[in-house]
Amino acid sequence: MKTKIKYDDFNKQFPELTKMSGVGVGEGWYPLVWEMFERLTASRAARGVPISEEYPLCFSTIKEKYGTLRAYAMGAFDEDWAIIQMYEDMSQFVCEQCGEPGRIRGRYWLYAACDAHTHPQDVRNELYVENFFDGEE
Ligand SMILES: [Zn+2]
Repeated sequence: MKTKIKYDDFNKQFPELTKMSGVGVGEGWYPLVWEMFERLTASRAARGVPISEEYPLCFSTIKEKYGTLRAYAMGAFDEDWAIIQMYEDMSQFVCEQCGEPGRIRGRYWLYAACDAHTHPQDVRNELYVENFFDGEE
């Protein structure tokens, strides 16, 4: 998907998956969630259990917690969980604000961010930690 994904696009493209919950994460993770939905849909179809009334799959919550994506699904098979887990793991390396490569930042409040979207106080903490370990050598 080349154009920028908007909040309402999820419900238009994946009405079954989003009928209980919107995508409550920063826009930087929208492409990640979009790809997860595409992969779930394709995987279900390939396994002969397409997302439908007979084999429902829908998310009750899609949010950020401790810096990573958390997606709680109802009707998920083991194969679906494996896909969801993969995207939850990947999210720690993607800035939630802009989608650029990032990692988990912060001390008390954890969040996934690129260098540009790391809060100044967390940059200072990281410098402190780096200096601390430099001193050990
Ligand atoms: Zn960023």
